[in-house]
Amino acid sequence: MKNYSYISHLECPKCGEVYEEKKVQQLCKCGSPLLVRYDLEKVKANVSREEIANRPNSLWRYHELLPVHEKENVVTLGEGMTPFEKLPTLGAEYGLNHLYIKDEGVIPTGSFKTRGASVGISKAKELGVNHLAMPTNGNAGAAWALYAAKANIKATIVMPLDAPAITRKEVYIAGGDLHLINGLISDAGKVVGHLVQNHGVYDASTLKEPYRIEGKKTMGYEIVEQFGWKVPDVILYPTGGGVGIIGIYKAIFELQQLGWIKDGKLPRLVAVQAKGCAPIVEAWKKGEKESTFFKDSATCAFGINVPKALGDFLVLEGLYETEGCAIAISDEELLKAQKQVASLEGNFVCPEGAATFAAARILREQGWIQADEHVVCLNTGSGLKYPETVEIKGVETLQPGQEI
Ligand SMILES: *Cc1c(COP(=O)(O)O)cnc(C)c1O
Ligand SMILES: [Zn+2]
Repeated sequence: MKNYSYISHLECPKCGEVYEEKKVQQLCKCGSPLLVRYDLEKVKANVSREEIANRPNSLWRYHELLPVHEKENVVTLGEGMTPFEKLPTLGAEYGLNHLYIKDEGVIPTGSFKTRGASVGISKAKELGVNHLAMPTNGNAGAAWALYAAKANIKATIVMPLDAPAITRKEVYIAGGDLHLINGLISDAGKVVGHLVQNHGVYDASTLKEPYRIEGKKTMGYEIVEQFGWKVPDVILYPTGGGVGIIGIYKAIFELQQLGWIKDGKLPRLVAVQAKGCAPIVEAWKKGEKESTFFKDSATCAFGINVPKALGDFLVLEGLYETEGCAIAISDEELLKAQKQVASLEGNFVCPEGAATFAAARILREQGWIQADEHVVCLNTGSGLKYPETVEIKGVETLQPGQEI
């Protein structure tokens, strides 16, 4: 009998301690996030790339490499296998002959946070969790509340008052236990910490449970599969908590170990941040292994306003190991790129995703990216979730009968 999942155990990337996956685990004793490990030899013996390619268009097509044992526990809204498209017009504008978008704007809940929620909630269900809590800047809380509703798990979501209004409404409509805080995501984190400590609630905060990253890593699997089981030269990722970029890095290593990537090279990973919140960029410039708290952070790209990430050391490792880099983009530059992408290619990308396009342009200008390299920009969500970032200028209102 073939297994649905070949998960074997959890492992600490910092101290090497091993943990059992059949019961609830949060952080390692040493404070580090835990990573999920699989029996890759068995995966290799039991499934092929061809078999995966014939499965339905969902991230669950990679179920052997995901942590859920029983198919019945999978909580899905049809997420994954989002479009991967070449952008020739914008590419020509930027001097890039092979510019691609991986577009997470078209996924349930409107952002890639859905991947982490689908896998994270499915595993929580399998582990018997009935109440979880998390602080959020918006999109993660929205996704987790909606998937928790489907799984019949209570979700306590704490978000800053100025998080995008739509995400608050998503939590509310899902029947989530919504709390607003007149403060930052770090303040929301303290409220959640108290609840977890004193009431035994499952902590679903970024990287404090090991499974969200497993959902997000499927972006890496999909890019490789959609690119014909090869890796592109460069992948640019809008980096906040860093789960997405750590996930992509992990995915590519797993595929290398499986022997499923045609050539042995690694894509150079680029962490794109906002100038108003760039802790990873600062650390990378100094060659450091960890970041320091970025004071008074501010950017319109809400999803990447994370002044200190728990997994910063893993993001930085991914940049150094793949010979990637980190770059900060001003809000002005990313909004300009957002308009360019929509007006030249028709994709209404979110501000976070727009930052990766601005970064691709700048890195090309600086010669860090060559004209013939294959470059993938990750658009992490739909621009439709951020209507307030688009300022309309020079449009007049007609009176009936008036001509233009
Ligand atoms: C959360 C978020 C990010 C940052 O993702 P991380 O995995 O936390 O680095 C980027 N873009 C959007 C739209 C987000 O919601
Ligand atoms: Zn440890």
